[in-house]
Amino acid sequence: MSMETENVVARLKSSGLFRTKGLIGGKWIDAYDGKTIEVYNPANGEVIASVACMGERETKDAISSAHDAFNHWSKLTAAERSTRLRRWYNLLIEHKEELGQLITLEQGKPLTDSIFEVVCGASYIEFFAEEAKRVYGDILPSPMPDRRMFVLKQPVGVVGAITPWNFPLAMVTRKVAPALACGCTAVLKPSELTPLIALAAAELALQSGIPPGVLNVVMGDAPKIGNSILESPQVRKITFTGSTAVGKKLMAGAADTVKKVSLELGGNAPFIIFDDADLEAALKASLATKFFNTGQACICTNRLLVQEGIYEKFINAFSNVVQSLKVGNGFSEGVDQGPLINEAAVQKVESLVQDAISKGAKVVVGGKRHNLGFTFYEPTIISDVKNEMLIARHEIFGPVTPVIRFKTEEEAIQIANDTEYGLAAYFFTNNIQRSWRVCEALEYGMVGVNVGLFGSEGAPFGGFKQSGLGRECSKYGLDEYLEVRTKHTMFFYFRKKNHTYKLFHLHH
Ligand code: ADP
Repeated sequence: MSMETENVVARLKSSGLFRTKGLIGGKWIDAYDGKTIEVYNPANGEVIASVACMGERETKDAISSAHDAFNHWSKLTAAERSTRLRRWYNLLIEHKEELGQLITLEQGKPLTDSIFEVVCGASYIEFFAEEAKRVYGDILPSPMPDRRMFVLKQPVGVVGAITPWNFPLAMVTRKVAPALACGCTAVLKPSELTPLIALAAAELALQSGIPPGVLNVVMGDAPKIGNSILESPQVRKITFTGSTAVGKKLMAGAADTVKKVSLELGGNAPFIIFDDADLEAALKASLATKFFNTGQACICTNRLLVQEGIYEKFINAFSNVVQSLKVGNGFSEGVDQGPLINEAAVQKVESLVQDAISKGAKVVVGGKRHNLGFTFYEPTIISDVKNEMLIARHEIFGPVTPVIRFKTEEEAIQIANDTEYGLAAYFFTNNIQRSWRVCEALEYGMVGVNVGLFGSEGAPFGGFKQSGLGRECSKYGLDEYLEVRTKHTMFFYFRKKNHTYKLFHLHH
């Protein structure tokens, strides 16, 4: 281990946050057969830790401990659960520096972005701790005079949560916090590429007084763990963020036990700049929206659509800023862009770029691996891209901006919607009519109008089409973890006769 890694690990160990086992029923547990898998630092390939490699048996035990814990946890008042969640939030914020370092170590992003992720991840816990106190029901007008009807919202039960590596903490809290807030218990399977931050967060959950079994963590053999979650009738809900391919498998697998399903899958975000846009603002936003997290976010720009009147001018200005981005190890001062997650991710980016070039696209900036080696790739712009090219159809998940030229507003909308995805879209215009018209024509769950990269614990997050099902964050996100129970009751009247009240029933 390098000195840097040793220092980060030592600091985490001293706060009890360097956990490498799974968490079942409040106990840290090795895989039953003793198997482990290694976790790597993507910036230099060094092994950071070996973690428990679990499978079916451990997952079954995690589910039954979550099922047992549900009895108690779901019966607490929202305020009691909220107090514990609030403590969890406080602990994450208290440890944000070390947790940020852990994210940079196993995921690679610049340290400031990692610390930002801790703050953002914690904010989901804070929000849902508060929001759970406002899970209101309804009283409905009855069609019969002797009946009353009530709607109660109740926790769905045990939740299976499967999370990716690109926001290894925020994606965990975004699922676990609303689940726990409304009384569900959870079995979490973080990505095997970045399990350490999820385990550290789980340790802090224990420290905050969230009872044993309420949050369980297993990792290792993803398909085996996934199948055990899917097959269990005790798991009533599955929530997943990751690739569309895996999301489809989970959705199909959930059919057998008819689980509730939330999916946050891939995107193919268009970022459209019209001739009448504020170019300076569009430039700034397009830089952030593309290169954030080395392009490894489902809402990162996947296609930059630029109108012909400003095409050359915009590309020149954009090239200048992209060329000045600083690439490096996330621990180095002033780094804008870290490494990609692994070699397979670099190879995918390379093959998409090669395909585009072979079909007539031109490299304007970058276009190859960075001389830092390992999984570093140069910030890249490719012009003359056509929407039929593979690079415009697949989620790139890397620091490459394909630029497509368009003539009219109609053409921009047609290109933007010509994809199976529908997560995030962005456009810049100073025409107020157009801002409404284009927003409503885009088949996307989230649209940025004169803003780039967005995200807030208070705003619904999710996609149309094959980008997913359901919404995360906000009051809409809480509904995903709740069942609606309708209660029908008989109703008796009091009738006043000779100054006395008598019970009266319509059937008498
Ligand atoms: P990505 O391409 O972003 O890594 P994946 O969809 O492969 O996205 O991974 C997201 C999460 O899904 C990870 O936690 C991964 O381990 C998990 N996963 C992958 N395959 C399966 C599967 N067959 N069943 C359940 N989970 C899976």
